[in-house]
Amino acid sequence: MTMPKNTTLSTWARNISPSPTLAVDAKAKELKAAGEDVCGFGAGEPDFDTPDFIKEACGKALADGKTKYAPAPGIPDLRAAIAQKYVSDNGIAGVRPEQVVVSPGGKYSCYLAIMAVVSPGDEVIIPAPYWVSYPEMVKLAGGMPKMIFAGQESSFKISPEQLREAITPQTRLVIINSPSNPTGTVYTREELAALTQVAIEAGIYIMSDEIYEYLLYDGVKHVSPASFSQEAAESVITVAGFSKTFSMTGWRLGTLMAPAPIAKAVTSIQSQTSSNATTFAQYGALAAMQQWERSMAAVRSMLEVFDRRRMFLLEGLNAIDGIECARAQGAFYLFPKMDAFGLSAMDFAAKLLEEEKVAVVPGEGFGAPGYMRLSYATSDEVIEKGLERLARFCAKL
Ligand SMILES: *Cc1c(COP(=O)(O)O)cnc(C)c1O
Repeated sequence: MTMPKNTTLSTWARNISPSPTLAVDAKAKELKAAGEDVCGFGAGEPDFDTPDFIKEACGKALADGKTKYAPAPGIPDLRAAIAQKYVSDNGIAGVRPEQVVVSPGGKYSCYLAIMAVVSPGDEVIIPAPYWVSYPEMVKLAGGMPKMIFAGQESSFKISPEQLREAITPQTRLVIINSPSNPTGTVYTREELAALTQVAIEAGIYIMSDEIYEYLLYDGVKHVSPASFSQEAAESVITVAGFSKTFSMTGWRLGTLMAPAPIAKAVTSIQSQTSSNATTFAQYGALAAMQQWERSMAAVRSMLEVFDRRRMFLLEGLNAIDGIECARAQGAFYLFPKMDAFGLSAMDFAAKLLEEEKVAVVPGEGFGAPGYMRLSYATSDEVIEKGLERLARFCAKL
């Protein structure tokens, strides 16, 4: 008698899609390794090093033997400093350290937030274009992603009406990401207030992914939905982290700030899955928080460079017939429309890489066919050469 086979992959493993952006990335790396001169616009991280004083604080912690487990929600001083930042910098009244959880990366903070409030069968509203990981994380929680689309015509911003219409009795959560990856779009205070009001009235949570909160241009200001009112603060889970602001992607340090019962649930999930974010890395982050002026000075010098590249890339893209690009005011991405060429973004990107050795990320993975993402977290030389090649490629189509 043979036993039934119980050796198939889990529902979760079978349902999760690998990152669709990886195909182009893998090909680009392969070409580079083979000695090809590839112009890469695929980067999802700043091309700067972590500021020295942050690295030194981490080095000191290591030397001092801060090499043991830390409390699951993070070292107390860091949680307190983050809570204080949310009060003084984001204008969220009365944030307490017990509302803050430090995790191994902003990505993991998003996952923890979703795991804390989404049950199997729940719906989660995700505005498209979206960051590739949101729908997959919702599926890992057993939830159902429900996309609503806002293209370039609406500045990549969903309207309060769109949100209201998408909400059903099964809806638990809506994800807002401003400034946005992949579009760089930043919602205004009024727009965010209106969306927050719709969520509050419907009794659903907002996960506000503010990982790019300090990467802003043209004088626009960041607004946290949790700052609008006490009611808003009770409905919003704010996730952020150190990766993008301080060029610390490899450090794996994210943050989550939520009403205390949610932060407590998140801490339990973290305690059973990752335990804590790397202990000595947290001391580097603590230096970034405690020496805020110095940190912001480092951010400002990075922004100056990003801003110049942004305008250079934007003008170059809009000078190409058939490409139409909006002036994004945040993060380090531009998200032009390229559907005039009669090619899918996937085919366009593959052909562009093949023929001109330029790597861009096709829009399909972000729920936005007909668009492509270009990161300007790369050198002026790469942008200049990449634009020339892209123009030549488009002229041939
Ligand atoms: C980069 C990114 C994150 C988190 O990055 P970590 O490196 O995990 O801190 C979260 N959300 C968005 C939209 C991002 O682009």
